[in-house]
Amino acid sequence: MQHRLERCRERLAAEQLDGLLVTSAANRRYLSGFTGSAGALLVSAERAFLLSDGRYAVQGPQEAPAFEWVLLSDAAPLAKQLPQLARQCGLQRIGFEAQDLSVAQYTKLQHELQAAEVPAAWVATEGLIEGLREAKDADEIATLRRAIAITDDAFAAVRPMLRPAMREREVAWELEKAMRERGAEALAFEVIVAAGDNGSRPHARASDAQLGVGRPVVLDFGARLAGYHADMTRTVVLGEADDTFWHVYNTVLEAQQAAAAGASVGKTGAEIDALARELITAAGYGEAFGHGLGHGVGLQIHEGPAVRRLSQARLSAGAVFSVEPGVYLPGWGGVRIEDLVLLTDAGPETLTQSPKDPVLVIP
Ligand code: ZN
Ligand code: ZN
Repeated sequence: MQHRLERCRERLAAEQLDGLLVTSAANRRYLSGFTGSAGALLVSAERAFLLSDGRYAVQGPQEAPAFEWVLLSDAAPLAKQLPQLARQCGLQRIGFEAQDLSVAQYTKLQHELQAAEVPAAWVATEGLIEGLREAKDADEIATLRRAIAITDDAFAAVRPMLRPAMREREVAWELEKAMRERGAEALAFEVIVAAGDNGSRPHARASDAQLGVGRPVVLDFGARLAGYHADMTRTVVLGEADDTFWHVYNTVLEAQQAAAAGASVGKTGAEIDALARELITAAGYGEAFGHGLGHGVGLQIHEGPAVRRLSQARLSAGAVFSVEPGVYLPGWGGVRIEDLVLLTDAGPETLTQSPKDPVLVIP
């Protein structure tokens, strides 16, 4: 955690801030190691505090040894304690996370600072810690690999169980069970199983519909492990696949592989998106690929870097993100293939291992 704190302090100096209030749960955990559901961090050039309530009086100091523990209570809530800490540390420009703090909370902080006559100002920041989180360190990559392995193993276990009469919901449950049995602490998100026309909506939920024969079935799922999220999609067909399926599937597969292999450090998200989108457009399905190519994963299921048509930020080494092109044809169904990719200076590495042969023989 120490090097994360150091990188955070470098960012503060660059932004001419002498303190940062961290309220976002993922950023709080990332910087401190504290996994509790409530609390905040105050980081200055010299000191670092974890402020949380009595439920975490033991867990907090244990999980975040690099932070000084400050107990919050009804009589001494966050907004009342911050002015004293600001004065004690001589803070003048204190950043807060504008994407996380509510207007009501901000108003309270502002009010208490003025009431205490502390000569400090709150400064809105965006994406400061999120930016650090985009480049994963070795510990994070190891955890993501384990979450991905659980997801791959669950698919290997459930794939042979699929039958035309099974309902989407049953398949979702089998995948959920298989991930939990293999050590997932939770689902990374609600499992998507979408057969036939249901699959033409990219964020369909599992319904009572049966998988059926000869139609595409989109399976999108992932395990969460130690706070880190895996994410993968496979599309399968039970029995014979028709010409439309093969044309769509091969287009999406080619696009997926081109983008996963062509991604590199220094490219923008838009450039990587284009590697897939150009092939899909050339095959005549440009209009049917209505979402971005991918998103970063980590302590959140959707985080930076964004890999979309308008993403101008350049990707850095250590970025882990999804490459998930799809083609969605209303009345017919959808095909999406999604792997997680790690960027290193040596090139891209596809972390997801599951096979991509779509046709399952009905026994
Ligand atoms: Zn997914
Ligand atoms: Zn995804």
